[in-house]
Amino acid sequence: MTADLLLVNLAARGVSVTADGGSIELDAEAGVLTDDDLRALKDQKRGVLRLLRLAEGSPVDESASRLLAMDQLAPSDLPICATCGRLSDTETMDSAWHCSRCDTSAKYRHEETQRWLRNAETIRNYHQHSNG
Ligand SMILES: [Zn+2]
Repeated sequence: MTADLLLVNLAARGVSVTADGGSIELDAEAGVLTDDDLRALKDQKRGVLRLLRLAEGSPVDESASRLLAMDQLAPSDLPICATCGRLSDTETMDSAWHCSRCDTSAKYRHEETQRWLRNAETIRNYHQHSNG
């Protein structure tokens, strides 16, 4: 089961699923959650956390979190998207902020930034290895 189907399935049975940092928090009536549910949540943890963060407008993954940390921005410093009311999550070179959910070209730029961050990390790791 994919992460989104899993969340839909749990929601349909009245299970509240929220992200708490890197953990998934569950709130359900006794006997509702099965071992299969827990196994599926464990298997899909990354995808589920990503969806939950998307839903609450938080940075969706480690790259985005690192980008925020790198620029020393608090989420409260980020402009709110006028269309959806969530945090803007993409900054362009002209220092303008965009919402990747509403601005499809922002989404593209966001993905480009994430790829750039991943490449930068690969290069850093490479240097660490060759220097060590
Ligand atoms: Zn938006």
